[in-house]
Amino acid sequence: MAEFMELEGQDGVRMAWNVVPGTKQEASNCVVPVSAIYTPIKPFPSMPVLPYAPLRCRNCRSVLNPFSIVDFTAKIWICPFCFQRNHFPPHYASISDENLPAELFPQYTTIEYQSPGEASSLPPVFMFVVDTSIIEEEMAFLKSALTQAIGLLPDNSLVGLITFGTLVHVHELGFSTIPKTYAFKGSKDVSKDQLLEQMGFFLNKPKPSTGVIAGARDGLSSESIARFLLPASDCEFALNSILEELQKDPWPIPVDQRASRCTSTALSVAASLLGACVPGSGARIMAFIGGPSTEGPGAIVSKNLSEPIRSHKDLDKDSAPHYHKAVKFYEALAKQLVHQGHVLDLFACALDQVGVAELKVAVERTGGLVVLAESFGHSVFKDSLRCVFQSEDKDLGLSSNGIFEINCSKDIKVQGILGPCASLEKGSTSAWKLCGLDQATSLCLIFEIVKTDIPDATVQSSNQFYFQFLTYYQHSTGEMRLRVTTLSRRWVAGPGSIQDLIAGFDQEAAAVVMARLVSFKMEIEAEFDPIRWLDKTLIHICSRFGDYQKDSPSSFSLSPRFSIFPQFMFHLRRSQFVQVFNNSPDETAYFRMILNRENVANSVVMIQPSLISYSFQSVPEPALLDVAAIAADRILLLDSYFTIVIFHGSTIAQWRKAGYHNQPEHQAFAQLLLAPRDDSDAIIKDRFPIPRLVICDQHGSQARFLLAKLNPSATYNSEGHHPGGDIIFTDDVSFGVFLDHLQRLAVNKI
Ligand SMILES: [Zn+2]
Repeated sequence: MAEFMELEGQDGVRMAWNVVPGTKQEASNCVVPVSAIYTPIKPFPSMPVLPYAPLRCRNCRSVLNPFSIVDFTAKIWICPFCFQRNHFPPHYASISDENLPAELFPQYTTIEYQSPGEASSLPPVFMFVVDTSIIEEEMAFLKSALTQAIGLLPDNSLVGLITFGTLVHVHELGFSTIPKTYAFKGSKDVSKDQLLEQMGFFLNKPKPSTGVIAGARDGLSSESIARFLLPASDCEFALNSILEELQKDPWPIPVDQRASRCTSTALSVAASLLGACVPGSGARIMAFIGGPSTEGPGAIVSKNLSEPIRSHKDLDKDSAPHYHKAVKFYEALAKQLVHQGHVLDLFACALDQVGVAELKVAVERTGGLVVLAESFGHSVFKDSLRCVFQSEDKDLGLSSNGIFEINCSKDIKVQGILGPCASLEKGSTSAWKLCGLDQATSLCLIFEIVKTDIPDATVQSSNQFYFQFLTYYQHSTGEMRLRVTTLSRRWVAGPGSIQDLIAGFDQEAAAVVMARLVSFKMEIEAEFDPIRWLDKTLIHICSRFGDYQKDSPSSFSLSPRFSIFPQFMFHLRRSQFVQVFNNSPDETAYFRMILNRENVANSVVMIQPSLISYSFQSVPEPALLDVAAIAADRILLLDSYFTIVIFHGSTIAQWRKAGYHNQPEHQAFAQLLLAPRDDSDAIIKDRFPIPRLVICDQHGSQARFLLAKLNPSATYNSEGHHPGGDIIFTDDVSFGVFLDHLQRLAVNKI
């Protein structure tokens, strides 16, 4: 695995197959698709940023790279993608094998170009959209978090404020002396024209002729824009005083009803306002939502409390009355935002569901951030929001206006991307828009091998496939950058290629690709059976790449390259991505959105949590994710990505309750208690959104957060379990049983 991580350290790429099956048939026999997880703007401190424009192949437009063959005498380079011969322009005249430009250095397979003329003068824009249909206590938490966030905004950024409950209020920030708002009815969607009309954008000017998209370029004066979007440094006072005065939605709520909350109308107003004022700039709508949407086209439930909010069962039976309408609304909103180049960030904080499942499409297609917490007072929300703006501790590197393109050798083509982006549907070229992206954003690229036959050995041809990933984006400093990553992978075909394929298999990357694929299929394919699909895939893989004598399960073994893949699939089957019925649709949408944007290492933790054991007997050591890891005199630290659990065995808990750690003679015990806290702090510091921390004791109610993730090797129906340990109340099969079945099926397959 180390060499795969090294490649990731150079290019931000992990591929499931690092030796590529060379034909369509070979690829289909490999079951796991030829695929890559790519982090387009992963920071590389030693990566050069070139202050000039890239050289492009005049035939296929791919960018000059270290795999290009260069003829220094003739001053010609041959494109590895289309074999076109290209002349170097005059300013490359001094090129020689001793005088290479950086883009031809073999180690710079990932490089950036910065176009000097293109630095954007457009400041970042933040449009806060704030739910006021929440209880006073939540209102106070939210106000305090927003006040803090406003204090952290970059001075040059533009800020706007919309609040909503029964009505939508757009706040004018330009005149701090007389607070003024424009109100819109929550039940009706407002078109951009109506919005502009009502807000007096055309008071002193004739309205532009219909059919023209209104925007800064066609008629909106900067004065009228400045009424709603002000530099953070100028409006901090006005904003803070509005927030201070902000009341919860004043409309009375009958006891048998939910609060009136027009989330979708508010978001639509925000999108249209940004579309009119700052089209094409890196603007973010930051939505703070404290309960279910009950009003307008995106409502997820009626106001009547006797109607429950949709569950997975309702969605499964297609009996959620508002779901399709709301999703359709947010699909249209996504389209509008992508067209405008704007991002929707979602901070959903409530005990109830708020509609993350419906909103998902708009957040994901625009590359927005998502945070789900129980309350605006919870650290998961507060600390995550702080991370968005505070750059000393942790820089998310929020960037905008991204376009992602792929070039490949002609025998391979990209089939699709799973990740936070939107297809540009640009005909034959492969391009996607990333309205918002950050240093962690990771795309899953699925490739298709087009070649159907193995070329005749007498025909001279390369046995390398080339891939080039191009990301244009607006760097957080405002300048436009182009990141170019060019890769080459050897392909194999025919008899004898199996050992090469095995040697190039990255089981972690493969597990993550399978997790994204299974989540995607569960969402779009009706009647899809995820367990059956995963099991079939795994059995195929094992029977193709395992070592065994036919019909002899005991002879079965897997190369170290594959050895933990079955375990990943076992945990994936049990994970929140597949066992959705244990969660709400909002939670499932949230987990999948995060899976869909994270890198391999983080995603592996979501699939198979890590467990560390602390005791007096040894230094902290990794423990098997099994109920057998529990012991009375141990502390366990479970990291399941979204939740971190510190679990005290019963003896440890007793000692702690007795206060031993406060006694000078029990320094060692104090240290033991502290060690997992320090380690969890380090994990939390590196992660966005901030995970939930649960500290619990054996046999306590919170212990379920740990038990749910452990392999049930000892359950109430297995014979005797060891003393001081624990058992899990479940009928799930244990990993041992799962592996037995797998070996039996794999050896009988062919
Ligand atoms: Zn070319």
